[in-house]
Amino acid sequence: MRIGSGWDLHRLVMNRPLILGGVTIPSAFGEEAHSDGDVLTHAIIDALFGAVADGDIGSHFPDNDPEYQDISSMVLLRRAMASIRDYEISNIDCTVLLDNPKLRPYISWIKDSLSEVMGIDTDQLSIKAKTSEGTRSQSIEAQATVLLMDKKD
Ligand code: MG
Repeated sequence: MRIGSGWDLHRLVMNRPLILGGVTIPSAFGEEAHSDGDVLTHAIIDALFGAVADGDIGSHFPDNDPEYQDISSMVLLRRAMASIRDYEISNIDCTVLLDNPKLRPYISWIKDSLSEVMGIDTDQLSIKAKTSEGTRSQSIEAQATVLLMDKKD
């Protein structure tokens, strides 16, 4: 078995979509980024690369490369899955830190979207929503922990 952790943060700005796990959340603010800024998917990608000790999201998908301008992070996640091809996902546990809007109504859509791309069941993916209680309302953060199992075992 191998474990990986990922963390990401993006600034929230006006006139950008708020995308989490490939799902666009109705919001006046969205993530400032070179890609689509999907902070949750970025944390999961870093956890996957971390679990197999294969660099990080920046080394695989440099943010100064025009190929990744506004790219869907779900495309990047699909590519990251190729890096862990010798393993299968046991489970993933995530936390998203965001004050507004409340994410709970969207969690099941986000789980469906991410699970489909990763080829796992929704009960292998946990997404928890927390607020910063107003202390970090200009940003959005996500953490992810992934456990992989060797397919040969
Ligand atoms: Mg990011």
